[in-house]
Amino acid sequence: MTVALIVAAGTGERLGAGRPKALVELAGRPMLFHSIEALRAVAGIERIVVARPPGGALHGIDSVEGGETRSESVRRALAAAGGEDELVLVHDAARPLLTPELAERVIGALIADPAAEAAVAAAPVSDTIKRVGADGAVLETLSRSELWSVQTPQVFRREALVRALDVGAEQLAGATDDASLIERAGGRVIVVPSDSANLKVTTPVDLRLAELLLAERHGPAR
Ligand code: C5P
Repeated sequence: MTVALIVAAGTGERLGAGRPKALVELAGRPMLFHSIEALRAVAGIERIVVARPPGGALHGIDSVEGGETRSESVRRALAAAGGEDELVLVHDAARPLLTPELAERVIGALIADPAAEAAVAAAPVSDTIKRVGADGAVLETLSRSELWSVQTPQVFRREALVRALDVGAEQLAGATDDASLIERAGGRVIVVPSDSANLKVTTPVDLRLAELLLAERHGPAR
């Protein structure tokens, strides 16, 4: 069985909506609810725990107040979830276009690879990526054939995630995803091809795009 954790405690400053990003209205509902709905439809997920923004519980949803950093929010949600489930799926509320099908593929990929400690949704990079120094000059052009843009959901074997999160606050703060903590410790992480429609809402432009894609998915309003 899999427990799903949704991290939703970020402030979303780059969106500039004046409230936590996960609670910003998107297609008629707070952004967070799109991910909850998708995860409720996933075979094998019986429980969902949300790391919520400060400011009070969410009606009808299992939640715990998030932490200072993303990984600290994951750690708190995992603690609140208890210890029974073998697999832990972590998803960012900032990716409201999640589909049950993608979550099921990521879970399935981890189950199919017993040597892996985590499986993550990812899309091949389409831009050319360069490393640039502080002075604005290019240091290096990376080989695109090996580059993937990593998303959520990310699915972990529970013990591996617990171990990976058991590091100092500084390492936790530096982790922009949880799989990187597994990689640091030498664990095997596999990617599961997703597409760019599973976008992350960061700026007002992303919000507009998410709105259009959701409208297209659900058909014309009745
Ligand atoms: O800031 P960013 O968009 O990278 O955050 C990714 C996800 O992590 C978001 O869904 C955000 O709500 C969540 N987060 C969190 N606790 C934090 C910071 C971010 O749950 N302290």
